Amino acid sequence: MKVLKFGGTSVGKPERMRQVADIVTSDAEPKIVVLSALSGTTNVLEKSGKLLFEGKISEATKEIDELYSHYVQFYNELLFTDLQKKKAAGVIDQHFHLIRRLFDKAFTEVENKIILAQGELLSTQLFQLHLEEIEKNSVLLPALDFMRIDADNEPDIEFLSQQLGHMLKRYSDNSIFITQGYICMNASHQIDNLKRGGSDYTASLIGAALKASIVQIWTDIDGMHNNDPRIVEKTFPIAELSFNEASELAYFGAKILHPSSILPAKFYNIPVQLKNTMEPDAIGTLITANEKVSSVKAIAAKDGIIAIKIKSTRMLLAYGFLRRIFEVFENYKIPIDMITTSEVAVSLTIENSKHLSDIVEDLNIFGEVTVDQDQTIVCIVGNQIIDQQGLVKKVFDSLENIPVRMISYGGSRYNISVLIETRYKHAALQALNKGLFNL
Ligand code: ADP
Ligand code: ASP
Ligand code: MG
Repeated sequence: MKVLKFGGTSVGKPERMRQVADIVTSDAEPKIVVLSALSGTTNVLEKSGKLLFEGKISEATKEIDELYSHYVQFYNELLFTDLQKKKAAGVIDQHFHLIRRLFDKAFTEVENKIILAQGELLSTQLFQLHLEEIEKNSVLLPALDFMRIDADNEPDIEFLSQQLGHMLKRYSDNSIFITQGYICMNASHQIDNLKRGGSDYTASLIGAALKASIVQIWTDIDGMHNNDPRIVEKTFPIAELSFNEASELAYFGAKILHPSSILPAKFYNIPVQLKNTMEPDAIGTLITANEKVSSVKAIAAKDGIIAIKIKSTRMLLAYGFLRRIFEVFENYKIPIDMITTSEVAVSLTIENSKHLSDIVEDLNIFGEVTVDQDQTIVCIVGNQIIDQQGLVKKVFDSLENIPVRMISYGGSRYNISVLIETRYKHAALQALNKGLFNL
């Protein structure tokens, strides 16, 4: 069994969706096809939700009406027969009716998440109608019947494996299974999601649960690049990455992969391949357990970071001090990304958090607390890079004109991280591209 995930741009135009159909029907191997919403849809749904929280119903209605028209045009271009078009109209009316009905109710996070889920519910049905029209059999597996997260937002792979196993047995003569990325049920039995970009995570979780032969992430670029192509001009695709390298890059901001999406594949040793839907013959990137020693492979950057410094001359070196600081973050279930210590102070970073003021209040007991917002972690990744002589010099020579707030080196063998103000991010990524890759 293979798992193939297609992102928003891969299904965002009728001709692209047809291309996806070509790819999934090109061999007879059983496969699970995970689809995102059509590109832009989740943004509109998210925006509408925000407007509804603010009570701006007419503005939200306008957004949803425009989205509706987009879908009507989309299915009219995707499908040819009146019968399929009629079916598509029924599907779309049903989902938009549901969205509009939620406008009249008291709007809470529960309704918001129902709205956010509609994109993937729509794209998968439209895709199935297209497969039906070209006379390819497929089965639609509702993700909400098998994808579940617990009270800590952790996916339940055991449940996923059992449920999906039962479902697949029921259709043992079928080879194309379609399902929604991103959406899931939560511990309160409400519709939820795996956070933005979560379809990659869905694919990896399914791959892990079914012990798939491979998880392919099909997107709009020819694999993981050595630097962020949205910011840096000269970047190139990387043919091979280890799970550790890829998960580090995903976690530290390489948008091509959801931050957690490599972890299930790594745990169950399922290879992950990044492929370009628009150029299916390009080799893309293969991610496996193979840890070839390499020079720097890639650079990624994660925004929205807050640096917190706790200064205490009295207690820092005291036994248990760091534990007590960490406990504050644990109480709010906030992961710490970077940490550095000196004799009198400890600095650490977290992602933007709604608990920030509570955290600062709790930390005040230990000393003077300073908070710096709008920080970015720049992460330089490659197997065994910390053994490479002269690399640190190259990194700092490249960043000579950029103020560096924190450095993390030696925490793992495949990552050097530096913390800078976000306003220096573009300059830092460009400078590192030049200094480390001669580009
Ligand atoms: P999808 O909709 O298929 O999930 P995404 O937009 O989430 O696609 O991810 C693909 C995009 O990630 C690319 O178009 C590219 O702009 C961006 N990206 C950021 N960093 C990298 C990187 N290091 N390598 C490749 N793509 C990257
Ligand atoms: N549609 C969702 C998003 O835009 C999930 C995904 O595309 O992976 O975030
Ligand atoms: Mg994505």
